[in-house]
Amino acid sequence: MKVQFFGVRGSIATPTLTSEHRRKLESVVKRTIGANLQTDADVENFIAKLPHVSTRIAGGNTSCVYLRLKTKHIVFDSGTGIRVLGHHLMQLEEFQRGEGEVHIFLSHTHMDHILGFPFFPPLWVKGNKIHLYSGHKWAEDAIRTIMSPWFFPVALEHVPAQVIFHKIEADKKYKDGDVTITSVTGHHPAGVFVYKVTSGGKSVIYSTDNELTDISPDKIGKTRDFWRGTDLLIFDAQYNIWEVFVEKKDWGHSTASIGIDLAVEQQIKKIVLFHHEPTNDDFALNDILFKMRKYLETRIAAQKIEVANPKDLLHIILAYEGLVLDL
Ligand SMILES: [Zn+2]
Ligand SMILES: [Zn+2]
Repeated sequence: MKVQFFGVRGSIATPTLTSEHRRKLESVVKRTIGANLQTDADVENFIAKLPHVSTRIAGGNTSCVYLRLKTKHIVFDSGTGIRVLGHHLMQLEEFQRGEGEVHIFLSHTHMDHILGFPFFPPLWVKGNKIHLYSGHKWAEDAIRTIMSPWFFPVALEHVPAQVIFHKIEADKKYKDGDVTITSVTGHHPAGVFVYKVTSGGKSVIYSTDNELTDISPDKIGKTRDFWRGTDLLIFDAQYNIWEVFVEKKDWGHSTASIGIDLAVEQQIKKIVLFHHEPTNDDFALNDILFKMRKYLETRIAAQKIEVANPKDLLHIILAYEGLVLDL
């Protein structure tokens, strides 16, 4: 299973500001002083060794994560990142010929999770089949509304591809070949669905816009099997701990350290910090990643867990546009 990130920002699309771009540029140029770069190979090598914050961009697109399975194209959410994913899929002959089929699972219908849909290129090729899955009964109305004349020039019934809506239920297992999809509900205004996809012996959980504050055995009890032993957890890390518990309580978002606690408790192998706060630039996000790695080290020491490297217990990854993980 290949997991690819096309939109990682929460709430609203957040393009990189010129000031941030300049700060990155400055950090790179300073490192060239005395670097003695003579050939293209020297430059390649130099770039490869730069800190990630200088070369990667968390990006401006809102939620969209793509799972490439052996037999299926699965997508979590159709935020603005789905436009870029669509161009990627359109390089495949099946989508060019109008024989492509893609399965999009919506966590919920807030704007940052659906607004990219009309700009999804496979939508504009006759014959392509686009399945939209949601646990919210109003999901079809929401998509039709953003494609109504006030918001978009072409109505859904006039797009060339076939769009098929499916209503799904939480706590129910959906199985097709070697792909299994389950979901649980989370805490978010108007509700949210947290998905788990299992295929080829690997599993991914997509838990965004989920205000998870209590992961005690009592609270997690019923859903313990859902979380337990998952290979990759994509986790809503939008807020800091003060915002989650005080300032923005009940706004529906979680924080990175709770994700780490959950992952350690439930023996999850990798966590991707996702749905970044728009006011956090890449330097601030990098700082969160650094602090979370320290937090994990502190937890390991406090609990006297024996591991050679904290990564062996839990690999913490910061989501950025273009991140690809092979499971
Ligand atoms: Zn969101
Ligand atoms: Zn939301």
